Amino acid sequence: MSQDDCLFCAIVAGRVPADVVAEDEHALAFRDISPQAPTHVLVIPRVHQPDVGSLAEAEPEAAVGLLRLARRVAQEAGGSYRLVFNTGADAHQTVFHCHGHVLAGRSLGWPPG
Ligand code: AMP
Ligand code: ZN
Repeated sequence: MSQDDCLFCAIVAGRVPADVVAEDEHALAFRDISPQAPTHVLVIPRVHQPDVGSLAEAEPEAAVGLLRLARRVAQEAGGSYRLVFNTGADAHQTVFHCHGHVLAGRSLGWPPG
């Protein structure tokens, strides 16, 4: 279920510290180390899956749990938010453990870069 060489599995296991803001049985939410908005929180499943589509196929309950936790975090930030799943290297995925970026607290442009 977890991968030895995966940074986010290490955060789930508590081997790497993170600024955790919310969690439940399915998912963990912690502040991005390089925030791009006043609220920039990553939501990740406890299980290792490389991306959100793979998570939905393999563990649909965990995928729903992840979305619910993302909404909870966003509601605490107030108002509008963006939930981004960069998927694949060309889409700027750099950590290959599924994660959604919850971005809130400022006006967000469109289209994204
Ligand atoms: P992505 O480019 O979509 O794969 O996003 C990976 C995110 O993980 C980036 O926004 C990084 O700033 C963030 N990140 C990397 N290492 C850590 C860490 N140890 N704690 C919190 N966020 C991290
Ligand atoms: Zn992992």
